[in-house]
Amino acid sequence: MQFNEQFSYKEKAMQGGALYLVGTPIGNLEDMTFRAVRTLQEADIIAAEDTRETRKLLSHFEILGKTLYSYHEHNKQASGPELVRLMAEGKRIALVSDAGLPAISDPGADLVQMAIEAHLPVIPIPGPNAALSALIASGLPTERFTFIGFLPRDRKRAVEVLAPLTNAAGTLLFYESPHRVIKTLQRLQETFGDCSVTLARELTKRFEHFVRGPISECLEFLAAHPPLGEYVIVVEPRSSLSATADGSLAGEAWWSSLSEEEHVNHYEQEQNVSRKDAMKLAAKDRGVSKRDIYQALLQFEAEANED
Ligand code: SAM
Repeated sequence: MQFNEQFSYKEKAMQGGALYLVGTPIGNLEDMTFRAVRTLQEADIIAAEDTRETRKLLSHFEILGKTLYSYHEHNKQASGPELVRLMAEGKRIALVSDAGLPAISDPGADLVQMAIEAHLPVIPIPGPNAALSALIASGLPTERFTFIGFLPRDRKRAVEVLAPLTNAAGTLLFYESPHRVIKTLQRLQETFGDCSVTLARELTKRFEHFVRGPISECLEFLAAHPPLGEYVIVVEPRSSLSATADGSLAGEAWWSSLSEEEHVNHYEQEQNVSRKDAMKLAAKDRGVSKRDIYQALLQFEAEANED
């Protein structure tokens, strides 16, 4: 049996082409690691999300004379295969994003897959990350968490992402821009109720700031202090509390006391989605088919008519 193995520091891997995923600061340049600087110095090519941003970073650390190659969301189809070709020829490629870890709400995941498929070593060079930095200072549970990143802007798609999370155990991590943080908090409140959140802003920077409390208080705060800077929203959904407000057991699904009819109505009325989508979401929550939900609703209607 042929296993897909990688020894990152065996001689062959060290001498041939490889992909280095290099974490860079999310604000404070002192967070750049020694290893990140050395890796960028030694790379044959630096693939960057925004070459102008990366040039600034390189010049700060006096990493000079490097070949930069643009790799971003809109050119990755063409530049990914080209980078893999260069690695196959023996080039060491360091991938950086504008800030934090590549491939975390930033380009990189596709290139990693392509490199692995081409049997090239993929080597992480850890560094700062906004989500985990916010989580560890949030005061919310850290034992179990789910990274969501940016919520889709479209309401229907946002509900599709959020609905299954009402059953998820653990803390949730969202990224958000200042323009959308209020809207996103409102969506979170519609889905999870007035649960505890931490808003982490400008992490590692001079104006680093946290607001901790129920969503309603954070919204009040933002009404008085308009959002500025980039945010991480750390959420403790009620389902992850050890005992929920109504006394139900930890981990029990929020809809478990609802009939199929009530469950569908919840989505339709409280989250403003169409009847058809509400049935789809309820079916997904319950792990049954849409047809089962439809049958249950028909039966409910028949019983209501009998009364
Ligand atoms: N790759 C990055 C990482 O590892 O954290 C994330 C890049 S993503 C395109 C940018 C988002 O990360 C921002 O919109 C914000 O939500 C979050 N973010 C990045 N830097 C931040 C900071 N200094 N403080 C708070 N949030 C930050």
